[in-house]
Amino acid sequence: MAYQKEREVAIAAAAAAGRLCEQVRQTITPEAIEKKDKSPVTVADYGAQAVICRALEAAFPNDPIVGEEDAAELRTPEMSDRLKQVTEFVKGSIPDATPEAVTDWIDRGNGESCDRFWTLDPIDGTKGFLRKDQYAVALALIEQGEIKLGVLACPALKFEGQTEPGLLFIAVRGEGTMMMPMNGGTETPLKVVEPGDVANLRFVESVESGHGDQARQNAVAQAAGITTESLRMDSQAKYGAVSAGKAALYLRLPSPKSPNYREKIWDHAAGAIVVEEAGGRVTDMHGKPLDFSKGAKLVDNQGIVVSNGVIHDAVLEALKASVPSA
Ligand code: AMP
Ligand code: MG
Repeated sequence: MAYQKEREVAIAAAAAAGRLCEQVRQTITPEAIEKKDKSPVTVADYGAQAVICRALEAAFPNDPIVGEEDAAELRTPEMSDRLKQVTEFVKGSIPDATPEAVTDWIDRGNGESCDRFWTLDPIDGTKGFLRKDQYAVALALIEQGEIKLGVLACPALKFEGQTEPGLLFIAVRGEGTMMMPMNGGTETPLKVVEPGDVANLRFVESVESGHGDQARQNAVAQAAGITTESLRMDSQAKYGAVSAGKAALYLRLPSPKSPNYREKIWDHAAGAIVVEEAGGRVTDMHGKPLDFSKGAKLVDNQGIVVSNGVIHDAVLEALKASVPSA
């Protein structure tokens, strides 16, 4: 099996980070701190990034990590209580953590992309996390611009028939996608929806209307033969749903409010390999493969189309014929 050590370390780190996030939601009402770009960050985002960066640093000291968060704000005197709070949560998995170590681990995540690097979103879907909805811890390994490994921890996700929430999606290039309970258990191989599975021929999109073009997304899905209403879900849990055959399509078209938005690599790398290795297809809205070799953003791509593969070309055709919302 390829990437065995990377796989083990990534699974353990993502699961530990997922448990930390759930611990935060169960013990406090996390507040959003507003970042310069106006997006929210919480003690759980910082804690999750610290736990994962520390694990990667110990196992792969030469690998840079391109993560979403940095500790600049947390290091300011006004934030010292918040830093103490983050440290307490990190101590749940690393008992000897100190505030200094925590900020250093978080800043390990400010690496540059290169020949081999990790990309991390410690909480993808922070708005979902704050709303007590879905969110994901997303970690991927990229070599020469190709995603080799992806792990998604979805601590609040469960599918029918499951009693406990908490799922891990794990993919290694060429070796398929597996799903397992976040707190351990057996791995099950995943496969995307078959065309005949009408009940699961659904489509998923963001809860946040500002992260897409919902009118156009619905029109395109209908034109491609999907008759039911969308399932709205925060974070890369959407990729998990497609990989597990619970939805056939995930559309993310440029929002009319930010038509020139470029997607961040950590919002897609882990999810994309999870869907591809389950037999699905991932491109931008023009049918181009996502290019992870251009830094922290997918500068050469616009919009995201994720499908079970079978319906992909029909979706791209429908997209060409559709118009953006005003
Ligand atoms: P989701 O939960 O799928 O709606 O996606 C959450 C992610 O959307 C966050 O991690 C942000 O990086 C990203 N995001 C923020 N603004 C935009 C935007 N204008 N268009 C698309 N994605 C965005
Ligand atoms: Mg994100």
